[in-house]
This record gives sequence, C-alpha cells and structure tokens, in this order.
Amino acid sequence: MADRKNIHFFHKKGTEFEDKIVRLKNLAVDNGFTLVDKADEANIIASIGGDGTFLQAVRQTGFRDDALYVGVSTGQLGFYCDFDIEDLPGMIEAMMNEQVEVRRYPTIKVDVENDASFYCLNECSIRSGIIKTLSLDLYIDDLFFERFKGDGIIVSTPTGSTAYNKSMDGAIVDPKLACMQINEVASINNNHYRTLGSSFLLSEERALVINMVDDGNDFPIIGMDNEALSVRHTGSIRISLSDKRIKTVKLKDNSFWHKVKRSFL
Ligand code: NAP
Ligand code: MN
Repeated sequence: MADRKNIHFFHKKGTEFEDKIVRLKNLAVDNGFTLVDKADEANIIASIGGDGTFLQAVRQTGFRDDALYVGVSTGQLGFYCDFDIEDLPGMIEAMMNEQVEVRRYPTIKVDVENDASFYCLNECSIRSGIIKTLSLDLYIDDLFFERFKGDGIIVSTPTGSTAYNKSMDGAIVDPKLACMQINEVASINNNHYRTLGSSFLLSEERALVINMVDDGNDFPIIGMDNEALSVRHTGSIRISLSDKRIKTVKLKDNSFWHKVKRSFL
C-alpha cells in the first residue's frame, strides 16, 4: 500500500447524517486523504455511527490488523468512538498529528467445528435459541471443567467487558490485559447441576472448548458481537485470544478508564 492516507468511510446509507458525512469526506480530501470505496485498499477505516456500527465496520472489513480503525460517533461518545461528528476539525487535527497514540484491542478467535473461524471484538455468546435450556460441557485446555445448564455462556474480550458481560455482572477488564472473560447466563445450580457460578478470566495461553451436550436442544445460537450464526448440531467450539489486535486512535485524556467513568459513573 503505497499511500498511507487512503481512507474508507463505513456507515449506513440514508441516515439523517448524510450532509455531515459529505462534509467529513470533503474535509478529509482537503487535508490530503484519498477516499477509497474498497475497504481493503484503505489504511484508515472510519466508522460513522455508534459502537454497534463500529463492530460492524470491523467485521465487514475482515478484522484488518494492518489498518487503523477510527470511530466517529453520531450520538453520544461510546467505547469505540473517540470522535464526534459535530467536531470535524478536531478529528482531522488528530488524524494529521503524528503524536496521536494507537491503542491495540485484543480480539478473540472462535473455531467452530465443521465450520469456519470467526473473530469477535466484543464477545462470543452461545445461547439457546428456544425456550428450553442449553447444556454445554466446558473444557479449559484439556481439563474438563464443568457441565453448564442454563441460557448460555458469554466469552468477552476486555473491550467487550463493558457490554453484554457487564449486564451479567462481569468485571470490567483493562484492555491492556490480553485475556478473555467467561460469564454464565442464568445457570441452573442445584444438587444435579453445578457450575462455578462466578465469571473467570483466561490468559492468552489458554483455550476454552465448549461441547454441546446432546440432550434434546439442537438450537444454539452463536452470537459474534452483533451478528448471529444459527447452527444445528454443532460439535465443538474452541475460543481463544487471537493474534489480531484492532488498532484505534487514542486521544489525550480519553483512556479506556476515562470512558468507563464517563459512561457509568
Ligand atoms: P444494541 O442492542 O443496539 O446494543 C446494546 C448497547 O450496547 C448499545 O447501547 C451499544 O452502543 C452498546 N455497546 C456495544 N458495544 C459496547 C461496548 N463494548 N461497551 C459498552 N457498550 C457497548 O446492539 P449493537 O449496538 O449492535 O451492539 C452489540 C452489542 O450489544 C453486543 O456485542 C453485546 O455486547 C451487546 N448486547 C448486550 C445485551 C445486554 O446487555 N443484555 C444483550 C445483547 C447484546 P451504541 O448505541 O453506541 O451502538
Ligand atoms: Mn447500537
């Protein structure tokens, strides 16, 4: 890639922000950036929308670890959006400034047996697609750990820890820690079924292997961030930290913990 200032804008079509998006694109061109239609020709991928849009931008452009992702918010600033569409000059200034820091967010890799491998930036969740509970055998590396029965399991990245994981009382994890958090969704715990009952973290050297237990519920849904993969009779699912890191721009005084404080306190 010869030109390091190729920028691709990712956004929903026909939003109320069309005018502002056009202004943003013009401003980028005025400042020496080249607009590219194909994301794989871009060095910078700018997502315009909310955190959900950012997750889609990363997914639909293939979790590029050689590109810089930039989140531009059209509402309140979220966790992946450092910029505000209302502050265009601020955005260009930051992009032109060589001093801007780059963050690297850990992602997880999900290998589905007899299917493909997928990446997640927030989390992978395995949930029952029907009213019945789901039974799952969990292994940590080769160790059989527990048999889970309930609504599902969430495996989140550090940046995903503030999303679904947080609603299930999981801990908020600093993205400088490359790890994944395993959390339960409504586990049954009685004299027949027993799970750990608290969430736990696994290091990048470990893998979580989940086997579907054949007990009449063949309808798991595998959620990858904001996309669902419906599978029947999935064998084994292996989840581990991936080598891919998602790079984003870090502005001064806008660390992960600034965001946590701004959003929740
Ligand atoms: P959504 O249902 O519109 O999103 C739910 C909310 O989560 C939105 O406010 C979204 O922000 C926010 N969000 C997304 N990623 C976040 C993060 N890393 N930290 C804190 N908040 C975050 O769907 P979506 O916008 O496509 O987002 C998908 C995510 O929703 C999933 O990855 C999952 O984590 C989360 N989710 C949560 C629950 C729950 O808490 N019960 C259930 C299902 C899914 P924006 O408004 O800026 O998009
Ligand atoms: Mn959303």
